[in-house]
Amino acid sequence: MDPVGVAAAPPRAEAGPGPAWPSKCPWGAPKAAPMSCSLADVMSEQLAKELQLEEESAAFPEAAAVAEGPFITGENIDTSSDLMLAQMLQMEFDREYDAQLRREEKKFNGDSKVSISFENYRKVHPFDSDSSEDEVDWQDTRHDPYRADKPTTTPKKGFIGKGKDITTKHDEVVCGRKNTARMENFAPEFQVGDGIGMDLKLSNQVFNALKQHAYSEERRSARLHEKKEHSTAEKAVDPKTRLLLYKMVNSGMLETITGCISTGKESVVFHAYGGKYVHYFTNEEDKVIPPECAIKVFKTTLNEFKNRDKYIKDDYRFKDRFSKLNPRKIIRMWAEKEMHNLTRMQNAGIPCPQVVILKKHVLVMSFIGQDQAPAPKLKDVKLSGEDMKKAYYQVLNMMQQLYKECNLVHADLSEYNMLWHEGKVVWLIDVSQSVEPTHPHGLEFLFRDCRNVSQFFQKGGVTEALNERELFNAVSNLNITADNEVDFQAEIEALEKMNEDHVQKHGKKVSMFPSDGDPPNCGE
Ligand code: ADP
Ligand code: MN
Repeated sequence: MDPVGVAAAPPRAEAGPGPAWPSKCPWGAPKAAPMSCSLADVMSEQLAKELQLEEESAAFPEAAAVAEGPFITGENIDTSSDLMLAQMLQMEFDREYDAQLRREEKKFNGDSKVSISFENYRKVHPFDSDSSEDEVDWQDTRHDPYRADKPTTTPKKGFIGKGKDITTKHDEVVCGRKNTARMENFAPEFQVGDGIGMDLKLSNQVFNALKQHAYSEERRSARLHEKKEHSTAEKAVDPKTRLLLYKMVNSGMLETITGCISTGKESVVFHAYGGKYVHYFTNEEDKVIPPECAIKVFKTTLNEFKNRDKYIKDDYRFKDRFSKLNPRKIIRMWAEKEMHNLTRMQNAGIPCPQVVILKKHVLVMSFIGQDQAPAPKLKDVKLSGEDMKKAYYQVLNMMQQLYKECNLVHADLSEYNMLWHEGKVVWLIDVSQSVEPTHPHGLEFLFRDCRNVSQFFQKGGVTEALNERELFNAVSNLNITADNEVDFQAEIEALEKMNEDHVQKHGKKVSMFPSDGDPPNCGE
């Protein structure tokens, strides 16, 4: 017997892409033995496990987080998660089912004046149904109250029955049932089907094979999980977010998600081509989706949001809410805030993205730019003196409108969050952190905004540009007279304090701020 041949043939329980043996000669040794090891090694369980793990990592390579080409289309789907894949397939199936239903409805009704709707039978519902808790956490489903009872086990004494009807624990049937019951001890992620609830008898051999498989599954799943968490931090597209994005494509609302335009500390922005927002049964377009969309995904990792606390922590309107919210809800709140703030701006006619839809921590809005190329940030364009001056006056106007008409302070206004669109108009973006002027630090935020804007345009050669203090007064109408920055800021803080005291005493805002009726309570 050829010792090399034996040594190089590790036992492999599963079929699969094993080594390519010469098929004709069963005794022929492979040209390059992958490795040589002793017979003891061949019999070693440890080695078998290692080999299996190796094989698995080849089958599940580290997925590149953002692939080349379109990110998500109807055809291109991320298949790294079985659960997600199953959900995607189900959605695909539902969609086809609905299409068929639609055809049948049409055929059934024909030209008849009275028509019968099949709507109640359809499976896919338009995307707007905001069942924000529609996806139950995986962990939450582990303890299923409806799970079938465990099959009864044999009593301790090891046998059951009397006389010739006696059955011992060695009985094939009893033992098989026991094995089935023991499958429950496998990791929860390990799919054992309905076997546990059924009167299924597993032979020891099958059970052991399954046990071995469950063990390696567990390890693989742990490794994949690690990777998943890592990519969450990296790209903010964890499987749940991917599924959410996929749903948007699948519902027809988006045509294709082409790729990532920006990865920031707190969000990732994708570009997408808009689809149609159709009502399946009337075929009327409910809502016009912009031809190109920007999808802002707020990162679901918390660290980055810690430094945002100050925007809401001290806000009396949040005193109750903030402590009760769980971290995921807080992140959704940022997305929600951005949506509300954009809507206010839209209503005032300020050039800003138009909200398309908000789904959890994902905000879809119109894309500022063309053919996948976002409009450049003011910081990245070289404007002529004339354009720079135009841009300045646009920004001054927008800041005043934002304050007076929207009752908002941008709070992160700079050349990074202003886009120069179509070579002529400044558009404002990134307003999730915007607050009302009466926010405990609202005026400080405004002063910071003014400083950024003033410095940018003064450095850019706009001689007409107001300095930061003049700009602050021009926007807020507060007429703070201090002629140096230190005193100016002290006055700002005194005003904020006055407002806070007033709130403490009377439970409402002070009237020193220009007010046009009760503002909608959404710009917190
Ligand atoms: P962040 O909090 O990461 O700064 P932003 O809202 O500023 O989030 O978006 C980051 C970048 O993504 C922007 O600088 C801009 O280049 C791009 N972007 C965001 N929204 C849009 C949009 N609606 N249209 C085009 N580009 C956008
Ligand atoms: Mn930004």
